[in-house]
Amino acid sequence: MLKNDQLDHWDRETFLHPSTNWGQFARGDAPNRIVTGGKGVYIKDRDGNQLLDGFAGLYCVNVGYGRSEIADAIAEQAKELAYYHAYVGHGTEASITLSQMIIDRAPPNMRKVYYGLSGSDANETNIKLVWYYNNVLERPEKKKIISRWRGYHGSGLITGSLTGLELFHKQFDLPLPQVLHTEAPYYFRRPDASMSEMEFSAQCAARLEDLILTEGPETIAAFIGEPALGTGGLVPPPSGYWDAIQSVLRKYDILLIADEVVTGFGRLGSMFGSEHYNIEPDIITSAKGLTSAYAPLSASIVSERVWQVLERGTDTFGPIGHGWTYSAHPIGAAAGVANLKLVDSLELVRNASDTGAYFKATLIEALGSHPNVGEVRGDGLLLAVELVEDREKRTFFDPSRAIGAKVAAHLLQKGVIARAMPQGDILGFAPPLCISREEIDTIVSAMADAVQNVLNFP
Ligand code: PMP
Repeated sequence: MLKNDQLDHWDRETFLHPSTNWGQFARGDAPNRIVTGGKGVYIKDRDGNQLLDGFAGLYCVNVGYGRSEIADAIAEQAKELAYYHAYVGHGTEASITLSQMIIDRAPPNMRKVYYGLSGSDANETNIKLVWYYNNVLERPEKKKIISRWRGYHGSGLITGSLTGLELFHKQFDLPLPQVLHTEAPYYFRRPDASMSEMEFSAQCAARLEDLILTEGPETIAAFIGEPALGTGGLVPPPSGYWDAIQSVLRKYDILLIADEVVTGFGRLGSMFGSEHYNIEPDIITSAKGLTSAYAPLSASIVSERVWQVLERGTDTFGPIGHGWTYSAHPIGAAAGVANLKLVDSLELVRNASDTGAYFKATLIEALGSHPNVGEVRGDGLLLAVELVEDREKRTFFDPSRAIGAKVAAHLLQKGVIARAMPQGDILGFAPPLCISREEIDTIVSAMADAVQNVLNFP
C-alpha cells in the first residue's frame, strides 16, 4: 500500500477534483480526504476516521455501502461480458431486464428507457429528445427550455445552463440562449410573508405564464424541474405548486421533464417524486438511486405520448443520431438490476417514508424552537434545516460568515457528514434509505450540538 505522504503529494500534484478550489487545494490550503471503505451508512478514511454519512455520498448510495449482492452481480457480469455496445439493436440480459424493471416501477404512462452514465448526460439526452420531438412535429421554432432558479440539472453545457445557480453560469459564459429561468418554488423565501402556500404557488404559475407569453408559446418546448428542489436548497414544493404549473404547461402544449435524479427510486418515501406530488411528466430523468452509485448509470424514461412521436420520427429520419459508447453498459445494468431487487427486498421505499418522518420529527423536537432555525423541511429522507439570523423576520446571515459551513464542519468533528448546501445556510440530510432510528438519533444529537456550538444557543 502507498504511504499517505506519497498519495497526498500525487493528489495535490495531479488530480483536478470537481467542485473544489483548485488553487487552494494544489497549495495544500484545503483539506483532502482519502476514502477507503464503507459499510451500511458509514464510510472510513485513511486517517482512521469512521463517519456516519448523512448525505449518502451525493445523495446516491441509497442501499448503503458494502452490499455484496451488488458487488457480486458486478463481478459476475464483468467476468461473463464486461462490455458490449447497445447500438443497432444489441443488448444484454441485464440491460433488457433492467428496462422492464424500470418501466414496472415508473409512473403508469411511462413507456421506454434510454441509458446514459450520469444525471447530466441523461438531461442532455432529454433536451435532444424534446428538440427532436418538435422537429418530427414540424415545429422547428419550438425549442426553448424553461427551468427554475435554484434548479439543478447537471453541469454540462445545456445542463449547466438549465441549472439555476450562478456559480455554474458565470465562470463559463452560460446559460446558452435556448434556456430561460423562472421563479423557484421556495415558499420559505417568499417576498411577501402574508402569502399562503396556495397564493405563492399561483404566483409561481403566473410568472411562468408571463414568461411563456413574453417569449411566445410557439417557441417554448419544455419545462424542467425537480419534484422537490435538491442542490438549490432541498425544498419540497408548496401546496398546489405542481397542479398550477402543469395546467399552464398543458395550456401551451409544453412538455414536462421531471428531473428525478435525486428523487427517483425511493428517496421521498415513494418510488418516484412524480407519484409523491401528483406530477404527470412526459420524460423522467433518473440516475443516482438507479444503481445506488455502485456503477455509473442513468436513464431517460420516456412517456407513451413522447414515444408515439419518436417512433414516427425514425420512420421519417432513419436511425436516431444519438448514442454513447457506454449507453446501457452491462456492468451498470447488472448493478441496477441487483440494486432494484435490494430496494424491494429491504423495503427501502417504506423505510424512507417511516424513518424520514421520524428524522424530521426528531429534528423539529431538537431544533424547532431554536431562534436561528428558520425552517426544518423535507419529505422522506430528503431533509433540510435552514439557519437564519432572525427567525421572525426571516433575515439571513451574511454569507461571509459561512454559518452553514461552520455547522457542517462541527458535525464532521462529531463524526457525521451533512451537506452545507451551496446557497444559503442550509444543512442537508439525505442518508442511505436503510438508515435506522438509532443512526438518525446520532445525527440529530450531533446537529443539535453543532448548532448550539456555532450559534451559542443558551
Ligand atoms: N439532476 C439533479 C436533480 C441532480 O441532483 C444532479 C446531480 N446532483 C444531476 C441532475 C446531475 O447528475 P450528475 O452529477 O450525475 O451529472
